[in-house]
Amino acid sequence: MTTRPHPAHSDLPQQSADRAFRRYCRERLPELGLLQRLLRRGTPALRSRVLTEVPDGRWQLPVHALELGSSSPTAPVLLLCGGVHGIERIGTQLLLAQLATLLQRLRWDASLQQQLARIRIVICPLLNPVGMARGWRCNGNGIDLMRNAPLEAEQPGPWPVSGHRLGRWLPWYRGRPNQPMEPEAQALCTLVQEQIATAPLALVLDCHSGFGLRDRIWFPYSGCRQLLEHAAELHVLLRLFERSHPHHPYLFEPQHHHYRTHGDLWDYLYRQHLQRAGQVFLPLTLEMGSWLWVKKNPRQLASYSGLFNPLVPHRHQRTLRRHQLLLDFLLRAVHAWQQWLPGEPARRHHQHQAERRWSAR
Ligand SMILES: [Zn+2]
Repeated sequence: MTTRPHPAHSDLPQQSADRAFRRYCRERLPELGLLQRLLRRGTPALRSRVLTEVPDGRWQLPVHALELGSSSPTAPVLLLCGGVHGIERIGTQLLLAQLATLLQRLRWDASLQQQLARIRIVICPLLNPVGMARGWRCNGNGIDLMRNAPLEAEQPGPWPVSGHRLGRWLPWYRGRPNQPMEPEAQALCTLVQEQIATAPLALVLDCHSGFGLRDRIWFPYSGCRQLLEHAAELHVLLRLFERSHPHHPYLFEPQHHHYRTHGDLWDYLYRQHLQRAGQVFLPLTLEMGSWLWVKKNPRQLASYSGLFNPLVPHRHQRTLRRHQLLLDFLLRAVHAWQQWLPGEPARRHHQHQAERRWSAR
């Protein structure tokens, strides 16, 4: 599939179309422009493909998946995802900054080259390009992609935030019942399923913003009060991080501690993956606490984007730096997975500790 954006109905010569598309990116979607510059800069180490295309007016916008490192189907995988909610631009910007760093480091950093010979990094930095171009949370069809999986919550949280089927005029719309998932949601599910099918370990970090004054790391389940089945593995991983980086800024918790939602894509993918024995899949969500940016700069209240993104340049740069440690840790943890994944009886011990720490509220 082509990675070159093109008008839905081409009546322009390609050169004029390219020029017009660059203007569109500059004005509406600079993240896609940057992504495509990185793609050009990153070859041949950076492999890319277009998972699907979604229309915004005259343009067909690509949803890219990028890969660095081993192409072995049995390599452990770190999967980074951003831009699920179009208004939360900072998640996409964070991943693009990370990609630029990796591409630079790959030129000279022998330790990174060695890591990538054994693991694969998969990045889907901009899942919802139409939502981002329009400054919406939802996709171009008015559907909240993180409420779109065919999964009902048990004891859902407050309506309508938990997801509803009333109509696209109200945020958190799940779409009509018994319809296929939206193309972006389907593309992400296919990508994840394909990547984790034979990987012994797959870690995911899905980057969002907008909840509270703290940076949080959430994990399944979102739709019920149950602790995930790999709580022991997760507990070991997070304890490794906490002990290696005691001054980190994060709060680790199951998403259901806050609100339970219908149709969460990570709940859906995690439940499907449970049918595979012997492989570990840990989907984490980074929820950057955007109220902190608003508190420091109350003028951000005046814009919808200001509720979800740091608008002051130095705070924006600080946010891009702030999560470098976490991303680097995840990379190392995927590379060294055999060193820390617990066997029995350590697993039972950590399961017990995880239950004590995160038991249902
Ligand atoms: Zn979000």
